Amino acid sequence: MRISDRANSIKPSATLAVDARVKAMRAQGVDVIGFGAGEPDFDTPEPIKQAAIEALKAGKTKYAATEGDPAARAAIAAKLKRDNGIECDPSGADIIINVGAKHSIYLALQCLLDVGKGQEVILPTPAWVSYRPMVELAGGRVVEVAGAIGNDFKITPKQLEKAITARTSAMIINSPSNPCGTMYSPEELKALAAVLEKHSDITILTDEIYEKLIYSDVKHFSLGSIPAIAQRVVTINGMSKAYAMTGWRIGYACCPGAPGTPGIGSDLIKAMAKLQGQMTSNITSFVYPAIVQALTQCYTSVEKMRVKFAERAELIYGKIKAMPGLKCPKPTGAFYVFPDVSAHFGKVSPGGKKVESALSFAEALLEDAKVAVVPGEDFGECARNHVRLSFACSNENIVEGCARMSEWLKRLQ
Ligand code: PMP
Ligand code: GLU
Repeated sequence: MRISDRANSIKPSATLAVDARVKAMRAQGVDVIGFGAGEPDFDTPEPIKQAAIEALKAGKTKYAATEGDPAARAAIAAKLKRDNGIECDPSGADIIINVGAKHSIYLALQCLLDVGKGQEVILPTPAWVSYRPMVELAGGRVVEVAGAIGNDFKITPKQLEKAITARTSAMIINSPSNPCGTMYSPEELKALAAVLEKHSDITILTDEIYEKLIYSDVKHFSLGSIPAIAQRVVTINGMSKAYAMTGWRIGYACCPGAPGTPGIGSDLIKAMAKLQGQMTSNITSFVYPAIVQALTQCYTSVEKMRVKFAERAELIYGKIKAMPGLKCPKPTGAFYVFPDVSAHFGKVSPGGKKVESALSFAEALLEDAKVAVVPGEDFGECARNHVRLSFACSNENIVEGCARMSEWLKRLQ
């Protein structure tokens, strides 16, 4: 059987690959400490589960509108207005619910880019591993703009201005960031928006999936709340991270329609619905009431989990800082630390492996110390000296994993 060039052109997800390897090792009885998966270890809050169970029992088991059930879309619209200051139609017409935020981003890019048109997408890096393949699958070209470690990996308005060309079609921004664990302040985002305001052909995809996981006084800010650019901002979010619902596969996108067209939905959302209608149809229908429940009733559960993550951020940062040769900013959002480990390149691991890249570092660490981290290479060119550790795991895991890693680092020669 011949596999398409399209499928052959992309690499598998590095984050999912590490997670699969940890699961396979555990199944064989190996005691692995996993810092790989960006997945909360908490269970989904009980009232959210109950809402889905009740919907299932009540027979909500049929096809629904492709864009999503009206009550769930309206609850998302209310959330975006309340939490993010985004003016979208209260009916939810400017919103589509997809199979995870990953699917939302994929569909948005498929609707914004064409093959062979030379369209560029600006991507501040280090950036999540899936953005590049998704842009490329849609026919676009990624233009990486590197954030400096000394600036918490954030890009500046000057860098953004310099990266914009006549071919720039879109920009993807993700704050708080996977894999950086840092975030932009409202002022920094407004300064980037001032640049984007001058370039009306650029669509801005803002991935805000970690908005509820913040461990400093900096407030989350949504670019979609800035009236001058709001019509071309696509706000992406989902239930996976804040509500511990990774396996439920619920994401959404919001893009307000042109002013004066209430209730109709924007061209982008309509195009995304058309694609989704030929692809997956609606998401699982009995989970819609769980979305409403989560967005309207579960503030306390989210806050409890956030407090735990904040504690873990402190714990892991303290341990990483004490490890020889590692450099990284303090994690202030999402649940990742992204240290530069290049001080150890050129050394040989206890198992006899030459450590010459983030990939060989991660492989040797897993083989020798049974600690899984994600190598930086697939997060962008400027991320090659880094590895990512997710602290979405217990304090015991963090203590044991960091102890193993620290010991292992000392044994590199
Ligand atoms: N964006 C970012 C930055 C992520 O880390 C993830 C994690 N999977 C996603 C989007 C997608 O999340 P999901 O598809 O589970 O909603
Ligand atoms: N986003 C998470 C991560 O980066 C989950 C895996 C994935 O979808 O990439 O680990």
